Amino acid sequence: MSYIPVIGLEIHAELLTNSKIFCSCSAEFGGEQNTRCCPGCSSMPGTLPVLNQTAVKYAIKAGLAMNCDINKFSVFDRKNYFYPDLPKAYQISQLYFPICVNGNIPINIDGKEKNIRLNRIHIEEDAGKLMHDDFNGVSLIDFNRGGIPLIEIVTEPDINSSEEAKAFVEQVSLLLQYTGVCSCKMEQGALRCDVNISLMKSTDTEFGTRVEIKNLNSLKSIVRAIEYEIKRQARLLDNGDRVVQETRRFNDNHGDTKSMRSKEDAHDYRYFPDPDIPQVNLSDEDLEAIRAELPELPNKRLERYINEYDLSKTDAQIIVNQKTVSDFYDETLKEYNNPKSVSNFVIVELLRRVNLGEISMDNLPFSAKDFATLIEMADTDKVSKNDAKKILRLMIETGKSSLDIAKENGFLIVSDMSKVDEIITMVLSENAEAVEQYKNGETKVFGFLMGQCTKKLKGVCTPKVIKETLEAKLK
Ligand SMILES: [Zn+2]
Repeated sequence: MSYIPVIGLEIHAELLTNSKIFCSCSAEFGGEQNTRCCPGCSSMPGTLPVLNQTAVKYAIKAGLAMNCDINKFSVFDRKNYFYPDLPKAYQISQLYFPICVNGNIPINIDGKEKNIRLNRIHIEEDAGKLMHDDFNGVSLIDFNRGGIPLIEIVTEPDINSSEEAKAFVEQVSLLLQYTGVCSCKMEQGALRCDVNISLMKSTDTEFGTRVEIKNLNSLKSIVRAIEYEIKRQARLLDNGDRVVQETRRFNDNHGDTKSMRSKEDAHDYRYFPDPDIPQVNLSDEDLEAIRAELPELPNKRLERYINEYDLSKTDAQIIVNQKTVSDFYDETLKEYNNPKSVSNFVIVELLRRVNLGEISMDNLPFSAKDFATLIEMADTDKVSKNDAKKILRLMIETGKSSLDIAKENGFLIVSDMSKVDEIITMVLSENAEAVEQYKNGETKVFGFLMGQCTKKLKGVCTPKVIKETLEAKLK
C-alpha cells in the first residue's frame, strides 16, 4: 500500500543576542560548564525575569523575512513540565499570543516551487543541557545554555517528503543567516528540529496519527529519521496495526527511532500567562523601524545577480546560498566591478579551496580588495590565468598580497613591447630555415616559432601579444 507522508516541522533557532533572554549572562556558545549562568538562568525558583528587547527584535526580523504577520500584542506563558534541565519546573514560552503568526516560505525542488505555510513563530527560553553518563550511572547538567533566547518556527503540515523537509530547513537557515539573528550552526545546537509525521492514504479525508521525533540536529539525521519513520509507520498500517501517538528519539548510530514517551497535548502543560513578564506592545513605528533594518534577503540578491549582473541562475544560486560567500562577492565587486569574471573566480577557484578545507569563508587569510586585485591582474593580462591560480594558492599559504606574490615569483607580465619586438626579431633570424618554410606555405612551423618566442618572453607579455607580433612579422 502506498501512503502520503504528512510532515510538520518545529525548528528551534538560538538567537544571536549578546545576553540571555531574561538575565544579563552571556549568551555566547560554549564556555566551561556552569560559568555563564546566574540563579535566574539556572532556573532557581523565585528569581525574576527581565525581557531582553533585542531578542524580541530578532524574532520580529525572522518573522518579517518569513512573510509572517507580526502581533502587536504578545504575551509570555508558563509551560509547566518536570524535567531536570529546568528546575523551576516551567519553561517561559508563548502559546496564546505568539510574536509572529501565519507566514510562508517557498522551497524549490528540481525547479518546482512549493510554498510551505508557517503557523507561527514564538519566543522562548532554552533549557540547560543534560549529559547522561551511562558508565557511572549519573546525569550532569550545564546551565550555560539555560536562558539563551530561542525562536520556535512551526510549520503547517505542508511537507510531504524528506527531500522537502531538507529543502525547507536549508531555506530557513539561509533566511536566519541573512537576517543575522542566528548562527545556524547545527553542530553547536543553534538550529534544532522536531519532526511531526503521520501517513495517510490518498482516499483518506483525515490525517493519520502523528508521531513526534525530537531534537534532530543535522540535515542528515532529519532526512534519515523521516525516511525510517515513513517505513515504520507504513509497515504498521500494512499489518492492520495502529500508530501510537508518541514522542520518539532518533538514534544516529542505529538509524532508527525509539519510543521516548507518550506525546503530550497542549493541555498537559497547563499553560498560563507568566505573571512576572509584562505583555509586549508594539506600535506601527516600532515595526517599521525594525523592517528598515532588514538587510537584502536572498531572493532579492538572487534577482540582482541575475538581472543586473547577468549571472546564470545556477551561478547566482551557488553564490547566494552561502551568505558569507555572497557578502565576499559583493565586497570584491566594490573593488573591481566585473561581476561575471569575479563570479567565475569565486565559484571555480575560491569555493574549490573552501571545499578542499584549505580555507574557511568565516576566516579568509586575504581581503576582498586583494582578491579583487588578483582577478583584475588576470583579466588585464598582467598575469596569466594559470599563474592567477598559483597566486591564490600562495595567498592562502603565505598570507602575502597578490601583487607581492606576482612580483616575487616572476608572474608579472610587463608588456614591454620594444623587448617583445627585439626578441621575436632575434628568434626569426636564428630560425631562418623555418621562416623560409612558413613563407613557402608550410604553416605548421608557426607552432614551433611560437614556442621558441614564448620560451624567451616568459613574464614579458601574454601569448596573445606574441602571436599577433609574430604573425605581423611573418607577413
Ligand atoms: Zn543568567
